[in-house]
Amino acid sequence: MLVPMSSISFPFCSSKAHPPVISKHRSEFIDLRLKQFIHQNQIQEWPLDCVAILRKMKQSGSYGIQRIKLLKTLPEKVDAAAQYNAEAGEYAVFINHQRFCYPFQKSSHRRLNFTVAHEIGHIVLEHLILPRKSKTDREVHMEDLEADEFAARLLMPQKLLSSFNYYSIPVIAAWLNVSNSALVYRLNRLNRVDLITTRKVKSCIRCGNIRFSPFALYCGVCGQPLDRGSMGIRRIYYPDEVSMDSRKRSLICAKCQKSIAAITGEHCPCCSTSIFNLCSNIDDGCSYANPAYARCCEMCGKPTHYQREGLFPSWKREFFRVHEGV
Ligand SMILES: [Zn+2]
Ligand SMILES: [Zn+2]
Ligand SMILES: [Zn+2]
Ligand SMILES: [Zn+2]
Repeated sequence: MLVPMSSISFPFCSSKAHPPVISKHRSEFIDLRLKQFIHQNQIQEWPLDCVAILRKMKQSGSYGIQRIKLLKTLPEKVDAAAQYNAEAGEYAVFINHQRFCYPFQKSSHRRLNFTVAHEIGHIVLEHLILPRKSKTDREVHMEDLEADEFAARLLMPQKLLSSFNYYSIPVIAAWLNVSNSALVYRLNRLNRVDLITTRKVKSCIRCGNIRFSPFALYCGVCGQPLDRGSMGIRRIYYPDEVSMDSRKRSLICAKCQKSIAAITGEHCPCCSTSIFNLCSNIDDGCSYANPAYARCCEMCGKPTHYQREGLFPSWKREFFRVHEGV
């Protein structure tokens, strides 16, 4: 049976009018479904574009989405809506033609990103399987709250939110591909409005690294040249990849993992790997010994020896590690 358009639950239908009251077990259910969703769709890099994700879901066929349609007949205030056809077991997602500004550029356009994530939430949380007429208004209201919560957690993971230099709400919202109000609402819900006023710290504009040797000219994590006082949008602590002493000598061999704390030479006796994370740019005469987090030389920006040997993981793994356990 096709659910009539008038009975479809719309994004932000009523969720802002009442204080949110999602129960603990439903909250855990949203988390579970969200993790499965992220895993299934191989979502690894933020910010997200939910229009692209929705198209990918349709292509994969695994969610039963048969149609994504730009519709001219949706009510003016409705950005998008999802519909379930029980007989065919299929979904259709409608996007308001008048409100569709894509790719998103300004805050009001980015609102659609949240709206589409909300509709995806209804599908992933299986809200639309039971017809509207079998539910009370309160139940429909709760489903909208849950879809909002799904969208907020998907687009703005908590760990990601705590990794920003909060210059301003519009700057961070633009980075996240959400509207300014969606970001403020999310910070409020998490009780983390304090993040907005936290001290800004020096960080690499590319990878967000906050660890620098005193005279570093390049970011040791990604090789980006450092401007004086440069402060990126992200701020990320990249941990040591190998244990070193204060003279930047490895205590454990970065390659074979043997303990080399007691050796006298400069190479591991087992595999001949240098005990220093040297710059690989020997041709230009750079022989700087880099710290234990460095994939790139802090003096010339070229890869370090340990990086070239493939001993350190890509910095992007840490950069996008925003959903633990996925
Ligand atoms: Zn809704
Ligand atoms: Zn960097
Ligand atoms: Zn070794
Ligand atoms: Zn170098």
